[in-house]
Amino acid sequence: MNEFDFIRRYLQRQQPDDNLILGIGDDAAVIRPALGFDLCFSSDMLLKNRHFFADVSPEDLAWKVLAVNISDMAAMGAKPRWALLSAGLPELSEDWLNRFCGSLFALADRFGVTLIGGDTTKGDLVFNVTIIGELPQGKALRRDAAQAGDDIWVSGRIGLAAAALNCRLQNCTLPTALYQQCEAELLRPEPRVALGQAVLPFAHAAQDISDGLAQDIGHILKASDVGAELWADELPSLPELKTVLTEEQWLAYTLAGGDDYELVFTAPVGAREAVAAAAECSGTAVTRIGTINDTGRLQIIGSDGKEIKLTALGFDHFG
Ligand code: ADP
Ligand code: MG
Repeated sequence: MNEFDFIRRYLQRQQPDDNLILGIGDDAAVIRPALGFDLCFSSDMLLKNRHFFADVSPEDLAWKVLAVNISDMAAMGAKPRWALLSAGLPELSEDWLNRFCGSLFALADRFGVTLIGGDTTKGDLVFNVTIIGELPQGKALRRDAAQAGDDIWVSGRIGLAAAALNCRLQNCTLPTALYQQCEAELLRPEPRVALGQAVLPFAHAAQDISDGLAQDIGHILKASDVGAELWADELPSLPELKTVLTEEQWLAYTLAGGDDYELVFTAPVGAREAVAAAAECSGTAVTRIGTINDTGRLQIIGSDGKEIKLTALGFDHFG
């Protein structure tokens, strides 16, 4: 199979799409944006041995490659619509490609994403997805819109992916069933698109957690020129994780682990009922974990009311 067979047999699919004038097969794709909407763009790259282990299954790999990009759309409150996939593949193996593309298109279909282009070269397993989403004009969940007094909310549970990763790296030990539960979060993060869209009308700032809650909320604080207090005891986790990890490990994985792909957002206190309704209608649990203030810094408060100092706040690729 050559590159063109791969494109024709695996990537070109007929999908009804009113806004897609031209999809895969030409030099470029053509989109006609709908009236009243802004388009929203993002890219995320995944490299072997940095973002995934070499022994990952093609199904899990495809899921993560696309899911982390869909998550960026969720964080903007956008509806993901189109994606471009650039792939460096060591070989074109039918079995591997069948499994990879099956999982990729299953996830794409679930979120209404159409693959409209990309590039394929021989390479040592590297992927880059560019994703394009749609937003009602002028309405995006930006990082620079948090206000002092806002509640801070987080979706789902955080720290599980980091616990699985650290268990695999032999930095901690987890019982098998617990490891498997955490590994599922590491391999197949669930993009919170429905929640992002549901909180869009009233949330102030939002972002998805890819590099660790403390670091990622730091981006909101900096962009919005505010501070925050986070309550360590309120961070949503698995109760079993707290019992098997040391407190230091649990805090590190939960606050500075990364790979969670949950949403952290701020909203005015008066919107608490609206947040609860958004959580309900999107089928996504949310937890209130702190408040935005005007101190200009991030404070993490322990159960004793004292501040917890975190040395490493998250993942920095060049750190
Ligand atoms: P070019 O020579 O202009 O780079 P290619 O021959 O690489 O074009 O690609 C042909 C078509 O297939 C283009 O529409 C391109 O967007 C699409 N394509 C190539 N690789 C991928 C991929 N990995 N995923 C999605 N579309 C792809
Ligand atoms: Mg090309």
